Amino acid sequence: MAQRMMGVLGPKPISLSEFKRLKEQLENKIENPDFDVKTLLEDWWDVPYYFDFDQDIECLPSIRDAAHLYVLLNYLLFGRSGTPFDRGKFYRQFFKNGTDKIKEFIASVAAGKPASLEDDVQVDVVMGSIYKIKKYFLENNRIKDIRGASAIIKYLNEEVTKKFLSCHFIEECALYCGGGNVLMVLPGGQGDKACRQLEKCFFTIALTAKVAFEYISCSLNELFSDYRKKIKDLHDRLEERKKIKVYPINPDSDLQEIVIDGKRINFAGVERLSSCGEVCRLCNVRDARYAVDTAEGKMPACPSCMRKNEVGRIEKAIFYEEYERIVGIPPKRDVASISDLKDNHGHVAVIYADGNNMGNVVMNIGNPLQNMYFSRKVDYITKRCVYNAIRKVMGDNARFEAIALGGDDVFIVVPGDVSLEIANEIINGFDQGFDHQITMSAGICIAKHTTPLQSMLQVAQSKLKSAKALARNWGMKCGTVDIEVIESNISIDLSRSRWALFPSDNSKLAKFIEIIKRMKATKGIKRSQLYKFRHAARELKPYEFQLFYAYQVARLSQEYKTFVEGIAEVFGVDPRRFNGLIEKNGTNKERPFLSPWEDIVVLWDCIGGGAGDAT
Ligand SMILES: [Zn+2]
Repeated sequence: MAQRMMGVLGPKPISLSEFKRLKEQLENKIENPDFDVKTLLEDWWDVPYYFDFDQDIECLPSIRDAAHLYVLLNYLLFGRSGTPFDRGKFYRQFFKNGTDKIKEFIASVAAGKPASLEDDVQVDVVMGSIYKIKKYFLENNRIKDIRGASAIIKYLNEEVTKKFLSCHFIEECALYCGGGNVLMVLPGGQGDKACRQLEKCFFTIALTAKVAFEYISCSLNELFSDYRKKIKDLHDRLEERKKIKVYPINPDSDLQEIVIDGKRINFAGVERLSSCGEVCRLCNVRDARYAVDTAEGKMPACPSCMRKNEVGRIEKAIFYEEYERIVGIPPKRDVASISDLKDNHGHVAVIYADGNNMGNVVMNIGNPLQNMYFSRKVDYITKRCVYNAIRKVMGDNARFEAIALGGDDVFIVVPGDVSLEIANEIINGFDQGFDHQITMSAGICIAKHTTPLQSMLQVAQSKLKSAKALARNWGMKCGTVDIEVIESNISIDLSRSRWALFPSDNSKLAKFIEIIKRMKATKGIKRSQLYKFRHAARELKPYEFQLFYAYQVARLSQEYKTFVEGIAEVFGVDPRRFNGLIEKNGTNKERPFLSPWEDIVVLWDCIGGGAGDAT
């Protein structure tokens, strides 16, 4: 396992000549003192660094991470508090020929060899997390507020954390920050103060986002020689902190404004309510203190919702810019509300997905270089596969809303009639991106566009669970999917699947999509016939249905027969022996047969939409 996972903890090897050429290119660029080397290096995150080409290293560090760690170690060892530290100088020094003790140390760490620093120092390792993040995003159903909440979390994660570090230490202290998680190494004795300051600072801005920071103290040599254990201890401490942290019911702070990405958002100017006792109309939970402007006029709002609302009015959806950067063109339509995402039947879908087996990979991370690389790789692959899937399925008419997209977390809303294909493509992209060493599972909930997002998320979460259980039990080499369609207000029993195919592995889903698409494109196939099969399968006893089915099929066109064979194949039944029902091999005595017609009829409208289906 550990051996196999190495491929995802470092970049793929390149040839010596290729490396020399790239390194020369980089050296020429960093000669120019106008360049910020750190920014420049972001483009080199997936290129391996060779300290010594003769060395047989299983898991190479990336150029970016090796240089980053070099600067950080120099800072921790030789930086003096109160004295400015020239990061640029050390970046350049890293790429200069000739070796030094720290370069040798990093090379040994990368090679997994025992190594220690001569001048060891104490450090504090800090881990932070913004948790229960979806709850913070979904306190109401309004897209602008959800976007405001996403923008605030991103701002905390990236801008605020970096600014804190460059103010008190250096940016390189952060091994990673993103997706709600931060890991940093600070000079000894600074951990406690930094944790409390960061918690306070995040609270002052976001008020109702749950956030915790914790740290452990050790020496650099201890950290590097026992990295897994140290990170696990820190992780456990952070979990403890989350358990004991209490939050005020009506939080407030006198923050006047924030500047996100150069844009000033003024909270001080928002109208205050003169009277007390009103409840916030946006979250329906906390006490209102402000009157905020919304599309439906002035509304009483609590301080937290006021901030989301103000930020959401100014900030464009942050994920649209990323989409454009990755696929090359902006999404076709700006989405002002969830209704803008409905398909021709008025349906939208929540796709909720994450990586399988992530905990296991993280347990195998043996040093900070792998940690830095892996967190960036997961983020990169996840975003790319989501945006590319949307682009591939919807073409130039792409419309979607991303609520949370970072790390291996996917929580997006798309039109119902493209949701199965998008989920299928996302999983494909993710699994391929990790050479199937890590796979992704997804839960999909399709419902009327007026269904509250919170309810749809709950259903999708529960479907993700059953999809993950399938991936675990069968040791799948590809991702898995489970799905629920809420057709009416009748409450659904989530503990029991009504499908013959789901939960399903992703390759079966691909075949299912393919066959439904072909059926839809064939004139001779009538939907009424499919309904007839579904109805009969529901009403008749299995053997009665099988007789009915044989009789019907005999009368039907050759086209039907071809498709029926395709259906049998999707469900793993020999086409010559397919008699309209799927036999469950002995696992369920109560329902020995399953009707594939349920899947086909209900999901008929959830496949093959997209490009032309603008509402
Ligand atoms: Zn509120």
